[in-house]
Amino acid sequence: MKLYNTESRELETFDPQGKPVRLYVCGITPYDTTHLGHAATYCAFDVLVRYLEYRGATVNYCENVTDIDDDTIREAPKRGTNWRDLGNYWTAHFMRDMIALNVRPPDHYPRATETIAEIIEFDRVLIEKGCAYESGGSVYFSVNSYPKFGQLSHIPKEEMLAIANERGNFPDDPKKRDPLDFVLWQAHAPGEPSWDSPWGPGRPGWHIECSAMNFKTFGPTIEIHGGGADLVFPHHECEIAQTVNFTGEDYFARIWMHAAMVGYMGEKMSKSLGNLVMVSDLLKTYAPDQIRLFLARHHYRKPWEFTFDEFRAEIAACERMQQAANAPSGDGAVMDVSDARARFEDALDNDLDSPAAVRVLCELADTLLEYSDAGRNVQAAQTWFRRAAGIIGLRLGAYGPEARVRAGWETHMMRFPTE
Ligand SMILES: [Zn+2]
Repeated sequence: MKLYNTESRELETFDPQGKPVRLYVCGITPYDTTHLGHAATYCAFDVLVRYLEYRGATVNYCENVTDIDDDTIREAPKRGTNWRDLGNYWTAHFMRDMIALNVRPPDHYPRATETIAEIIEFDRVLIEKGCAYESGGSVYFSVNSYPKFGQLSHIPKEEMLAIANERGNFPDDPKKRDPLDFVLWQAHAPGEPSWDSPWGPGRPGWHIECSAMNFKTFGPTIEIHGGGADLVFPHHECEIAQTVNFTGEDYFARIWMHAAMVGYMGEKMSKSLGNLVMVSDLLKTYAPDQIRLFLARHHYRKPWEFTFDEFRAEIAACERMQQAANAPSGDGAVMDVSDARARFEDALDNDLDSPAAVRVLCELADTLLEYSDAGRNVQAAQTWFRRAAGIIGLRLGAYGPEARVRAGWETHMMRFPTE
């Protein structure tokens, strides 16, 4: 199959057959509810995971929780709670949304606060290798020590600072040698949680958390690294700089995949703008299959704009697919799906073109209903149809999410206790 690699800016051949695929996708920062933009990202990677499995790969999937970060620390007191309870509460909430949407759970679900020892070791080695420096109890990565910085985002050096500043960088931090240097370890500030380190008490920087969780789970290299497109720079750019300098390997992830942002009312859907469509609100009125089908209508790499009109238009398509999956089978000639199957696989082989794959499934649903009416044997066709629809997460009338989905997320949930 072909997958678009953000780093090479090309479609690259990826042969998953019979091989283990180590996949890491950046997870949520749990200080608020899951909106449709998050769901679009995690459902896109769910399609990837499920299709790789369909193709015969063994997917070893890791998604993290950024449970200690500027956002959780800032938001907790505003809500009369502490960062840990806030994080547990919203992570559990996110997991319930993922269960409802029938998203295959990751095999590993590390939280940053379980990875502090590895983060400190990462920082120590980076200082030893001359890529990082201690300053006033904090540790920074020296961007100038790594000439390939920018290899993923392809952003010209002179434009980097403005973008980094919009995304959490503090250019005026007097302890930094260069305004673009990013923090690996942040010295303790009053009212913040802290851990002991060789540089005094403090907490990890955001980017190093993912490098360390990734390394702890998978070792020096992985096949695919994913996340939302807003993470390309600086987050993933910084992850590469940290990891390759730590491991000494010439690459970190073979392929970098990024899910496009979802817009609503003319802007990117985001907490700060307040233009959010919450998954849990949609689930009060609409079926999970409808949300999954609607999301799969959009190619993961193309930004799109949410409208309720388009969303509601999926109700009919969803019902038709459900009818087709459950239509009576006769004892006439056996329906053949080999053509639909080839077109469906071609679509997903082509950089996960789920909109094209959904069109194949909708056509197949029509044919299934027609053939069922004509008394033909559609049993085998329905079996494949269900399997294919399952790749985009559809349940087609089966009660609730798959058992493995519920069981997997509920196991992770035990590490996020809420009252
Ligand atoms: Zn990350």
